[in-house]
Amino acid sequence: MKRELGIARCGLACCLCSENDKCNGCGSGGCAYKDMCKNLKCSAERHLAACSECKEECKKGLLSKIKPYTFTLFIKRYGIDELLDCLERNEKNGIVYHREGIIGDYDDFDDPEKLIAFIKTGKR
Ligand code: SF4
Ligand code: SF4
Repeated sequence: MKRELGIARCGLACCLCSENDKCNGCGSGGCAYKDMCKNLKCSAERHLAACSECKEECKKGLLSKIKPYTFTLFIKRYGIDELLDCLERNEKNGIVYHREGIIGDYDDFDDPEKLIAFIKTGKR
């Protein structure tokens, strides 16, 4: 885990991304989605560092996906350091963020509350 890369504006975990050997994270220009990214554009227009700082209940762009949506929700509730601590601990325990392409162990959920419980406990 490259903790210093943190979490992207949209909630994706740049720190654990399988592309982070050649990309320095959201805003560095390396993200494949950046030209069409609604979250980057909208949060910048609102002078916010990330969607997790926004008060809107929003499913725009990447927030339509369970993983970035839930990571954003987690940060709103518990803070970014708590999310990074959980992700770091889970990685050490064998939980993989990108197992096949951009799909991994945090994607197979349809309920944000269940994903939050998994992030916190590492157990399904
Ligand atoms: S999808 Fe947008 S907000 Fe997310 S990492 Fe890429 S550029 Fe950043
Ligand atoms: S409105 Fe949505 S996309 Fe825009 S900053 Fe807020 S959460 Fe992000």
